[in-house]
Amino acid sequence: MGYIQLMNEQPWQEQGAYVLYWAHAAIRVRYNLALLQALELAREQQKRLCVVYQLVPQYPQANRRHFAFLLPGLAEFGDQLQKLGCDVEIICEQTNEQLLKKCELACAVVSDTSYLRYFREKQAFIAKQVPCQFYAVETNVVVPVQEAADKQAYSAGTFRPKITKQLSTYLQPMRDVKRLAKQHGSIRGMEWLDYQYFCETWGLATKVLPVASIGGEQAAQSQLSRFLHEGLAKYGQIATTFDESASSQLSAYLHFGHISPLDIALQVQNYPASQQTIDIFLEQLIVRRELAINFVYYCEKYDCYPEALPKWAQITLANHEHDHREYLYEYESFAQADTHDPIWNQAQKQLLVTGRMNNYMRMYWGKKVIEWTASYEQAWEYLLRLNDTYELDGRDPNGYVGVAWCFGLHDRAWAEREIFGKVRYMNETGIYKRQRAAKQKN
Ligand SMILES: Cc1cc2nc3c(=O)[nH]c(=O)nc-3n(C[C@H](O)[C@H](O)[C@H](O)COP(=O)(O)OP(=O)(O)OC[C@H]3O[C@@H](n4cnc5c(N)ncnc54)[C@H](O)[C@@H]3O)c2cc1C
Repeated sequence: MGYIQLMNEQPWQEQGAYVLYWAHAAIRVRYNLALLQALELAREQQKRLCVVYQLVPQYPQANRRHFAFLLPGLAEFGDQLQKLGCDVEIICEQTNEQLLKKCELACAVVSDTSYLRYFREKQAFIAKQVPCQFYAVETNVVVPVQEAADKQAYSAGTFRPKITKQLSTYLQPMRDVKRLAKQHGSIRGMEWLDYQYFCETWGLATKVLPVASIGGEQAAQSQLSRFLHEGLAKYGQIATTFDESASSQLSAYLHFGHISPLDIALQVQNYPASQQTIDIFLEQLIVRRELAINFVYYCEKYDCYPEALPKWAQITLANHEHDHREYLYEYESFAQADTHDPIWNQAQKQLLVTGRMNNYMRMYWGKKVIEWTASYEQAWEYLLRLNDTYELDGRDPNGYVGVAWCFGLHDRAWAEREIFGKVRYMNETGIYKRQRAAKQKN
């Protein structure tokens, strides 16, 4: 198993023109094992390395906000790759025609792995079609998903020991990439990285617009450095201080593959902070994040209500399906931050403008949508849609797990109450108390 898997039984094609790296999930040069692997293979075999990125304009749930973050990151990546001597091509298509053509001319294809259904199916399909070796490389996790556990984990409690015992093996620095050639490589398809041109050519809706955050490897490293200097020491206090700088704000960079979790973990470990703070941060970055990956990897129906939930949650929610709801809203009221609750509206408004909401508020935000929607199915669908549409880090395993957590996933049963049954409830009193305490402190 390990990080690298051969996905077909085709041979190395000696007459091929290049080794192909099909980049998808790791848009960075630093700590990118798929790139490293592809470069080493090309060097060993004395072949050129071609890196292709397939832009899919109607990628599920992607909108202008996401593309505005993705495209500059791709431009920076392309530039770096060229300097390493690689030939780069950005292709833009809804089908796989051009991508398959690139694969057909390769000696071998290396791709990076992401874990949601759409990409996994595409990757398996391409691996079957190509006439040469096809490698899938996991480079966006610390511990490869099948090494961490061979089945769906029940909770963080059962998953934590499995993963922590492997950390000494996997928390190891990665080799640096070396240039393949002295001369710069070629680059094609750069016009697609022009945001206006891309959106206009494909007629992308203007409902959800870009936010101020800038994507890319350099921006991700700067954010990590800011967090290490200004945020790490107060990490974990966000729920009591509402100080946004007390969390890393790296989730969008992780989602788009602009930074590696292994890189973050090693930089955090080597930073002079208390071991307790480091451990609290690594719990989120490694245990919680990789628990989410474990979930979408092993649970086929990770996005379906109620199948994604544990049996106890399905049963208790079924028992409370017809409970009276005091407030009821449709999707647009939630989306426009138009509910009776000022705290909820404030969180949603922040999301509309910044593309972000902190973890503590996200839990409250999700729980309230369950409470104020006519059915659980509808609440489930609204939450996934809101999260994936407006969050910069949406469309991610963490999003599916975050929403499912609001319905009881990876949690335990609590005292029974209306609407939620035995699923954990959250009320605004806790938030008001915390906000008051934070104001008094400042
Ligand atoms: C309803 C709901 C929806 C969510 N949707 C998403 C989503 O779409 N994308 C997303 O990345 N996260 C999601 N989360 C998890 C979490 O809220 C975010 O990862 C976190 O707020 C990101 O901010 P940060 O980078 O400052 O996190 P930090 O606290 O600095 O943590 C560092 C990293 O650890 C990981 N992490 C942190 N908290 C969690 C968590 N609870 N579960 C899994 N991994 C975690 C993230 O990758 C994060 O970037 C959701 C949570 C809830 C309750």
